[in-house]
Formats: sequence, structure tokens, C-alpha cells
Amino acid sequence: MDDLRHHFIGVDELVPTLDGSMVRYVNLDNAATTPAMRAAMDAVESVLPCYASVHRGSGHKARVCTAAYERARSSIEAFVGADPERDTVIFTKNTTEAINKLARSTAVDDDSIVLTTLLEHHSNDLPWRARVRTVHVGVLADGTLDLEDLDRLLARHAGHIAVLVVSGASNVTGVIPPIHDLAARVHAVGGRILVDAAQLAAHRPIDMRPHDDPGHLDFVALSAHKLYAPFGSGALIGRRDGFASTPEHRGGGTVNGVTLDEIAWADLPDREEGGTPNLLGAVAFEAATCTLQQIGWSRIVAHESRLLAHALAELAELPGVHVHGPTGVDAITSKVGVIPFTVEGLDHGLVAAVLGYEHGIGVRSGCFCAQPYVARLLGVEGAAAASWVDRARRGDKRGAPGMVRISLGLPNRLADIDRVIGALRSIVAGDFTADYCSDEHNEHHPSHR
Ligand code: PMP
Repeated sequence: MDDLRHHFIGVDELVPTLDGSMVRYVNLDNAATTPAMRAAMDAVESVLPCYASVHRGSGHKARVCTAAYERARSSIEAFVGADPERDTVIFTKNTTEAINKLARSTAVDDDSIVLTTLLEHHSNDLPWRARVRTVHVGVLADGTLDLEDLDRLLARHAGHIAVLVVSGASNVTGVIPPIHDLAARVHAVGGRILVDAAQLAAHRPIDMRPHDDPGHLDFVALSAHKLYAPFGSGALIGRRDGFASTPEHRGGGTVNGVTLDEIAWADLPDREEGGTPNLLGAVAFEAATCTLQQIGWSRIVAHESRLLAHALAELAELPGVHVHGPTGVDAITSKVGVIPFTVEGLDHGLVAAVLGYEHGIGVRSGCFCAQPYVARLLGVEGAAAASWVDRARRGDKRGAPGMVRISLGLPNRLADIDRVIGALRSIVAGDFTADYCSDEHNEHHPSHR
């Protein structure tokens, strides 16, 4: 099996467990944030001696930094197969900012709708709700997109759909909607498509395709911290004519000329990058994308599919553990390595806490910022969902529904899967040493730490 760990920093760190021993940390929370690539750190270190302002100085260092920043922009453009003439790459701090920026810029009228889906992260749902009427495409029982529902909604709202906004891969189940097929369907009724690629970009190649291709992607949003570059950057890539003529954030860098009476706004992307940009974030982002391409997508997909197959097979053998989303043989190719599960009789927060405190294994539990989707998968709907939200509104998340999530990345090995399976086997058998209590955020901690 490919061992790609030499590309990453911190993968052999020892962490303390409750019994006082030190164990190698196993990170199975790559869907939240990935560990840093060595190449990202090297890129930052190579720029730091020259560190100076971007776009704002005539000194040698400022020129070097401006060139590095713009080179990073071109690399991101190539990484997603954007068109240098017709698209723009706007650096943001993350996917959430990128989607909010597009939502603000998107032209809508009283009859417009935005089609989103039930499997979206809140970041690809709430920004649209704030702007325009949103309609949610449903999901099937296995968590995949309901394409018949999509077709019904496309026919019903034809001519009024501003954008179809959809995840390239779900952060809850890992399912990969057929984005180019979806693009063709929404283009046929006069709409555009945004792909939230936060969970896709580190695991599958992205190709926006030419503008005259029916499967062309109009907009793509992504975060560098989910593809092994931990320096607070992201990007919104897409068609220049999709942006408003005035910027979201007004100020330095966004104008060509200003008098007391007039403002001549700058062209894209500068108009949408108000203030001094995040140079280190951009060069780290670039380095990570280049390294992913050097490793090669077929190797990345083969490595992660093998981990996923092993994890699904082992989880299926654990009594009392129920995996949500696709689990059949097709799952290995039809989803990225994100596996949500519940354990009979045990709170998801408790399972995650025991894995963390007693086994040195990092996972996430809860609803993963995708509450409508998790609620649907768990069958918590109607009055039960309403009372859950009501309690949360009063600040009490104790006992909230949720799942445990394992999410895989390039640094993982089969041994990491074996570690979590062994730990889960003992948890299912009731074998954990501490008593745990939960706080109002439903986070579980040992009672006596
Ligand atoms: N979309 C998806 C599918 C995600 O998984 C996430 C992060 N969990 C986001 C959007 C938001 O990304 P960020 O927190 O980097 O803005």
C-alpha cells in the first residue's frame, strides 16, 4: 500500500491518553481540516525572507511577493481547469466566504429561486436563504441526490433558476453528486451552477470544462485548509460576468480612481479582494495543489478507495454500529472517504470523546454543519426536529441527535483504520475507563480530569 506520509507534517505525533500512556495520534477528521503538507510549509518558508506587501509597493521585495501571489492565482486557475479569459480567481479566506461572496453578487429578481440540495453544508445553504427564495432538492434513503426530484424542480422553475448550488462531495456521507450532468441539466433551463468543492478538491480532480460545454461549471468554491495547506485561504473561481459591478468589501485595492464625488471600481479580481491579501495562504495553497497533481489523481483515488473499502468492511462486522449513507460495493467508487455512523445505545458525542481521550484518535461527532441532511438520515423530522432546534435556541445542545464521522485523507494508512476499529470494538463492549459528562454544547469530557 502507498505510504504518502512523508509529504505531511506531524503525522507521527504522540499524544497523551487518560491512562497516562502516549500513543501515536490517528487523525480521522480530514473532512474538518487536513494536516499540513511539507510543500506548503516549504513554500511559506521560501517566501518569508522576502515577505512584503502585495500589489502595494515598488521595492524589490514587494515585487517578488506580488509575482508570487499572482503565480499562485494562475496555479489555482489551472488546478480547477478555469478559462483564463472568461473566468476569474478570487482569493477568499475559505469556502464559506467564497459562497457568501457569490450569493451577494448573484443577480436575482422577485421570481428568481436558487436550487440547493438537502445534502448541503450550511455554508452552501444559509448564504442563499438570506438572498433569495431557496428550494431544496431531496435525497434518497441512502443519502444520494434524488435526481427525479431535481428534474421535477427544474421543470417547475425553468427560466427562474438563478443558480443550482451543490456540493462536489458531501461532508457527511462522502457522496459525489454527478456535477457535470447536473450542470447540463440546469444550463438547459437557463440557470448556472456553483459547485461547493470543499470536500472534493483534495480527493478528485476538478475540471470546470470549456464554457461552451453543457457540463461546464460556472463557479467553484474551495478551502485550502481541507487540501493540506493550513494558512487560512480559499478561492471562488468563476465567470467574470457573474459578479456585481461593485465590491462586497470596499476599500484599499478595490478601486482604480477615487475623488470626493466619484469612484471608479477596479476590474476583477482586485475589486473583490479588498485590503491586503493573504500571501502566505496563497503560496501554501498553490504548493499543496501542485503536490496533489504531482502525486497524481489515480494514485490518490486508489489509496483512499482502499482505505475506504477496508473501513466499510470492518465497520460492517461491528455489532451495534450502523453506517449511514452508501455502504455497498459501489460506495467505494461513488463516494470520498467520509463515513458517518451511530452506535446503538451510545451518544455520538460520548463515542467521539472516548476515541479521543482513551485511544488518541481524532474524529468528529454531531451534525457536521449539515443539520437538515443529518436529521433526514437519522429520521429525526417534524416535531422531533422542531423540538431539537427549540432546545438548541435556548443554548442547550445536550442529547442532540448526531453521528460519529470518520474522514480519510492521504496521510492515513490501513493501520489507522485498524486502530479505530479496535477502539470501537472495545467501546461497543462497554470497555472504557472514565465516567463522562456532557456540557451544554453536547461535548463529552471525563468527569475527573
Ligand atoms: N462546504 C462543505 C461541503 C464543507 O465540508 C465545509 C467545511 N466543513 C464547508 C463548505 C465550509 O468550509 P470552510 O469552513 O472552510 O469555510
